Amino acid sequence: MKKPPIIWMNVSLFSITFACAVIFVPWYGIAYGFDAIEWLCFVVVAFASGLSITGGYHRLWSHRTYKAHASVRFLYALGGALALQNSALHWSSDHREHHKHVDNNDKDPYSAKMGFWYSHIGWMLREYQAQRYHDYKNVRDLQNDKIVMWQHKYYLPLLLTMNFGLPILLGWLNGDILGMVLLAGLLRLVVVHHCTFFINSLAHVWGSQPYTDKNTARDNGFIALLTYGEGYHNYHHIFENDYRNGIHWWQYDPTKWLINTLAWMRLADSRRVVPQERIEYARLQMQLKRTKIKVAHLPNSEELIEKLQAEYETLKTHLAEYYDAKKALIEAKRKQLANKQLLSQVKELKLRFKQQQKSWHSLTASFS
Ligand SMILES: [Zn+2]
Ligand SMILES: [Zn+2]
Repeated sequence: MKKPPIIWMNVSLFSITFACAVIFVPWYGIAYGFDAIEWLCFVVVAFASGLSITGGYHRLWSHRTYKAHASVRFLYALGGALALQNSALHWSSDHREHHKHVDNNDKDPYSAKMGFWYSHIGWMLREYQAQRYHDYKNVRDLQNDKIVMWQHKYYLPLLLTMNFGLPILLGWLNGDILGMVLLAGLLRLVVVHHCTFFINSLAHVWGSQPYTDKNTARDNGFIALLTYGEGYHNYHHIFENDYRNGIHWWQYDPTKWLINTLAWMRLADSRRVVPQERIEYARLQMQLKRTKIKVAHLPNSEELIEKLQAEYETLKTHLAEYYDAKKALIEAKRKQLANKQLLSQVKELKLRFKQQQKSWHSLTASFS
């Protein structure tokens, strides 16, 4: 099959910025050195642009997992231009296609099934998307957001101002313009580019699949460190409407922490979360599926599968009963109906559920 034409602008942008960062940053560091302020600016500007993509482009605009005040959206629009990953409108349109048609080589713009290079950067280097480049049907809701449309319209002047103006201003304030341009401008741009591209490439090949194996998305704590918390991609692909990617307190998800801080400052609200029971149920189904595969070759597999299925059904029932009672208790509390009987029932059901969960874990662990 003949490959589509090369997009020379993108090829030049990615290769020139990468080559210049690799050559000039070490040269300048050795010849003149970078000071602590320059390194600090590198980190702060990297987080400002990276979080604008993950907190703004991704979780706010692509998935509408929460609502944000206009001042936050304005900063996201500036930070997004700084990250140089196209306008929020275009990015979100691509991303919604990615979720809708994940791993479908004809429809997913950065399908991981096309290989690592393609999903990382290759998809932007040729006119693969020409037929839908200006089709924004799937982001009609975002077209009502004045800030999104303003950024889309003035994307070029905005990206130039943010990528040249900001580092030059910081460098001028610090007394060394070139050093700041190289570190907070160039190196930061290349690092944030590839770190966020890892979500489409690495997070679809490396890691675990605790919630679903219906697509290639993986959970990986190490990738989360590089991607502002987006490394819990298996969770994200099954529950894309959840504002969190790392659902546990110990998981590194600075994008979630940012959204929580904004909510605390009353600059964000309507954070959407998936009910815990659905999360547990998804995990349980995957465990059952995996264990069934593991025992399939054993001589007494039929008997084992029957036992597994029975334990699974009991756990599923206990899970549903516990969460139903918990919901009823929350509802009663909301109506300010003190209900001691309900409270003790929830406690009892929780205990029963946890015990069954323990026996399930020891059963499945014995086959791993
Ligand atoms: Zn993905
Ligand atoms: Zn997403």
